[in-house]
Amino acid sequence: MRAGKTVLLMFLLPAFVVLVLSFGIGLVSLNSLKSQYLQSSDVQAADLRTLHQESTFKRDISELHSRVIEVLDAARQRNMSDVQLYRHHSRLVNELAAIEQQVQTLAESNLLREVNHNSVQGLRESFTQYRNLVIMATEIAAIDPDTADQYFSQAQTSFNEFSIFTGRIAMLLTDRTMLRERESRNRHEKAFVQIFIFSLIGAAVVLLAVFAIAVRISGHVRDIADALSKLSYNTSTELRLPAMERLQLSSRGEFGRIANVILGFRDDMVRRIKAEEENHRLIFYDALTGLPNRRLLQEQLQYAAGASARVSNYHALLWLDLDRFKLINDMRGHTAGDALLVEVADNLRSMLREGDLLARVGGDEFAILLELPQGLKAEAAKEAERIAVGICGGVSREYQIEGHCHYLTASIGIALFADKTMGVDALLSQAEVAKYQAKDAGRNTVSFYDPKIQAEINRRAELEGELRNALERDELRLFYQLQFDQQAQPIGAEALLRWQHSERGLVSPADFIPLAEESGLIVPMGEWVIQTACQLLAEWQSQPLLQDLQLAVNVSARQFRQQDFVEMVLIQLAQTGARPERLKLELTESAVLEDIEQAIQKMQALRSRGVSFSMDDFGTGYSSLQYLKRLPLDQIKIDQSFVRDIVADPDDAVIIRTIIAMGQALSIEVIAEGVETQEQREQLASYGCHRYQGYLFARPLPLAECLALLKHKR
Ligand code: C2E
Ligand code: CA
Ligand code: CA
Repeated sequence: MRAGKTVLLMFLLPAFVVLVLSFGIGLVSLNSLKSQYLQSSDVQAADLRTLHQESTFKRDISELHSRVIEVLDAARQRNMSDVQLYRHHSRLVNELAAIEQQVQTLAESNLLREVNHNSVQGLRESFTQYRNLVIMATEIAAIDPDTADQYFSQAQTSFNEFSIFTGRIAMLLTDRTMLRERESRNRHEKAFVQIFIFSLIGAAVVLLAVFAIAVRISGHVRDIADALSKLSYNTSTELRLPAMERLQLSSRGEFGRIANVILGFRDDMVRRIKAEEENHRLIFYDALTGLPNRRLLQEQLQYAAGASARVSNYHALLWLDLDRFKLINDMRGHTAGDALLVEVADNLRSMLREGDLLARVGGDEFAILLELPQGLKAEAAKEAERIAVGICGGVSREYQIEGHCHYLTASIGIALFADKTMGVDALLSQAEVAKYQAKDAGRNTVSFYDPKIQAEINRRAELEGELRNALERDELRLFYQLQFDQQAQPIGAEALLRWQHSERGLVSPADFIPLAEESGLIVPMGEWVIQTACQLLAEWQSQPLLQDLQLAVNVSARQFRQQDFVEMVLIQLAQTGARPERLKLELTESAVLEDIEQAIQKMQALRSRGVSFSMDDFGTGYSSLQYLKRLPLDQIKIDQSFVRDIVADPDDAVIIRTIIAMGQALSIEVIAEGVETQEQREQLASYGCHRYQGYLFARPLPLAECLALLKHKR
């Protein structure tokens, strides 16, 4: 592993500083010590030399003095010839000259010059005196020993004198040397103290530097540790790490890199948490309204059931369904429908208490989970009903969507629960069943769950299962109800579907068509109806009695919406060889209005081949001239509900007259269905409607019976 540059530098720097400092201090101190040493050793050498000279002088002069005594003694006792004496004398003169030279050198030495001028001067003078007296004494000794003795005794005095001087000088010299010694020791001590202080200062500086660096490193390490611990506990998408951001900017070395990595890690983590939250939102929330979806509701129900069991209170699950929302969706389009749902969701949200849960569980269906404080079921039910009625009233109002006013109402089903015995799915289906009950009770109402309705739902579920097999088992039949003109002559027939159930007998389309619509089975079933009708038409073509009859076939909205609807009809026509002019398709308003442009296209495509179109159940939907005029229609069929009351209810009579007028204005044929009485027929005729279908003329019949009736009528 490679050590990082910054950290390495941080540790090397103090070591380097220590090295340089100690090297510098050592160099300076050694240098000063060396020069001091050289200086003092020079002085000492000179002093020693001086001391040596002085002792040489002392030795030489003592020797010389003893010889002088010997020479003078020999002269006195006449042991020596004059020549010998003279030889001694001249040798002594020479030696004295040499010694004088020594004195001179001694006197000029630095040491003596510094010491005591008087002593040196005295030494010089007494030596000169001594020399002169000795010379004179030895000179005269051969001739006059007594005078020589006199001189010598004077010389002895001088000798003693300068001996005192030399003694004093020796003492001074010793003092002086000792002083110098002391001085040099002091200087050494001072130098040592200096080195010590410098080292101390150096060490302190290094220590401070190391401390500062250590503080800095430990600060970084602490910041990094803090950031890592923040990261490890982080669950939010907003994680600020200001220390790492500063470090990233300020440090280009390892710490900068670490900060970089941590910030990168943080960014990754934030991205991941955001993705998880988004996932969570997608899984548990509805994209349109932002409300919790069915899945989250299921979880919350589970939790609420547990809580209720612990606290011994009740929870209520409200299932809210908007009445006739589908119609608005079909009329105004999905975008407007979505906007309306968002408005309703906001409205609902504003009505709830804190802690209540509002979820969207289907297209126009919402669920509300309420916690009720009551411990008794009757009281809890009362409270739940009170709240539900309030919500129902709050939702029921006008909504402004895309410049249009829509009055909405809602039906609410309620299921109560106090523990987990029921299970979440059962609970949801109870609330839904209660909602159906509220719808059946006339909409805009609140209803509690009723087991009887559940049984009905179960029956429907069973029926749906069986309906799937009906096609394969060839259990579907077509009945035919004839249609008549003013002269009661048959002009055609409507094909009506029946289910020949093995146990239940003949099942009414009112019971299974909605089921088939919901499950999508209506598509293959509808195709079978058209195929069967076309086969029949092809058969009729060769029979003079039947060849002019038109056969009307009901087309459900879901089937009409199929992309290949036009193609499918054309294929059936081609395969059976039926004449398109004999085929009439009955559409409802909801089938056409959901996407009117596409409906017009499809109708035109088929109409150009000869197929005709009838608008079924006219008057029950949004029947208006506006769209009627755009649709390529051949016929409108007045809904039987108006026909039923045409005699009794003047309003219905007015509606029928309006429909007839509209048809006339647009040159569209009008037919009335559900004509049961002669009175109804006459009234219709008086308004200008001359085509009829109903029990008065014929009931829906199996093919054979229908043909028999036809023959009879003709
Ligand atoms: P619809 O298209 O309005 O059919 C007319 C209904 O009125 C038929 O009921 C018919 O038996 C009934 N009816 C005819 N004359 C009278 C009368 O004078 N008095 C009374 N009270 N009723 C009369 P049905 O056969 O039970 O069909 C019910 C509905 O089922 C039909 O209403 C239609 O919407 C649907 N349906 C029937 N066959 C098919 C089919 O092949 N395909 C599709 N998509 N729907 C079908
Ligand atoms: Ca019909
Ligand atoms: Ca009808």
